[in-house]
Amino acid sequence: MSEPDPIAVRVEALESILTERGLIDPKAVDTVIAHYEKDVGPLNGAKVVARAWTDDAFRERLLANGTKAVAEFGFGGGEGADIRVLANTDDVHNVVVCTLCSCYPWPVLGLPPNWYKSEAYRSRMVAEPRTVLAELGLALDESVHIRVWDSSAEARYMVLPQRPTGTDDLSADQLAPLVTRDSMIGVAQALSPHER
Ligand code: FE
Repeated sequence: MSEPDPIAVRVEALESILTERGLIDPKAVDTVIAHYEKDVGPLNGAKVVARAWTDDAFRERLLANGTKAVAEFGFGGGEGADIRVLANTDDVHNVVVCTLCSCYPWPVLGLPPNWYKSEAYRSRMVAEPRTVLAELGLALDESVHIRVWDSSAEARYMVLPQRPTGTDDLSADQLAPLVTRDSMIGVAQALSPHER
């Protein structure tokens, strides 16, 4: 049997105390979690990225004001009041971290993965991003400048990955499945069509 996750134990304890005191309804909590796991999530962000890859005017709006541009899709609300989008280029690679806790743009990416909340990721991505990215499978050329962005409760960042080569003939709908959650955090590139 594996060790219980201390955070999971703490969350469960907290939830039962709050429930006991009538401060929360566990059913309402489950509804919120299911909403973010199923209805919102990286699929939303993928649609946004695919549109930006195929529509230059939208791309400009997205980079100028992420919150407003994603609202065109109806995406917004909690944990997304100020979404800022960072475009990767041949020379610059962006990667997002929340050094303090786990701030993340929920309306476009859903709930953050566990590793994003880990102390190791939060501290090491700032101190040695190139090494951490390589460990995560993204070996960047030395000539590529890495920019690390610290998400906070106010500003939440999302990466606009580069459009994979060999995808000129694909529509936005065909491109969206190439856009992974990790590519929008900046710890991976978008997939090539043959990687799917
Ligand atoms: Fe945070």
